[in-house]
Amino acid sequence: MRDIFIAANWKMNGDLKFAREYATIFWPIKKKDLKVAIAAPYTLLALLKETLDGCPCLLFAQNMHFEDKGAFTGEVSAPMLKELGVDGVIIGHSERRQYFAETDETVLLKTKKALASGLMPIVCVGETLEERDAGKHFEKVRTQVASLFGGISAEDAEKVTVAYEPIWAIGTGRNATPAQAEEMCAYIRSVVREISGDKAADALIIQYGGSVKTSNCAELMAMEDIDGALVGGAGLDPKGICEIIKSSYEAKRG
Ligand code: PEP
Repeated sequence: MRDIFIAANWKMNGDLKFAREYATIFWPIKKKDLKVAIAAPYTLLALLKETLDGCPCLLFAQNMHFEDKGAFTGEVSAPMLKELGVDGVIIGHSERRQYFAETDETVLLKTKKALASGLMPIVCVGETLEERDAGKHFEKVRTQVASLFGGISAEDAEKVTVAYEPIWAIGTGRNATPAQAEEMCAYIRSVVREISGDKAADALIIQYGGSVKTSNCAELMAMEDIDGALVGGAGLDPKGICEIIKSSYEAKRG
């Protein structure tokens, strides 16, 4: 049985005051088969490491460079995140792909670096509305998934979390239906099975992301191939995300 994994992506939101207050309210349920993460801006990671001490929660960055150091102005590396005690990193979020020209190649390089550095990668994949309307969503997601899993060992594949995030559902209030989300998550698992084998495919944690909220998380999490959620907007409310975590866990484990 795979762990349930819920991550809150703060994106470019929050200041020191917000992070301090969030950390006093946020306290997810503690279960052996549940992982919870906050992916915060770089500037808040050190503070959160301190204030969330003892809280059953992993700390994630939202991006990193694939080199350890060098002339890459404005970038942050895996050793820098490790030094802060960060546990993992989101890689290839659609906003990074869209606004910062990230490609399947850089996503692979970053994932390899994260794995080699002991950071847990959450790698985002997903199609645009145009691609879905044109019936090209499976093709698009296959390309992203194959590029990633074709470049790492089957052993490493087991350590990756994939977040399926249809771009048309991110921040729009319009989530994929549970059937649409399950169809794609099952497809992702089948592509990983082809490339990395049964063990990796069975172990792979797949999150759904795209307008997840308290009112829709249970029906999404009840789906067989959806093991968790990557939550944007709704994750900015510490009470709300705790409700999402609780009701997702109940929907999954009954
Ligand atoms: C995200 O940022 O990954 C996301 C899914 O955002 P939202 O939940 O706001 O759609």
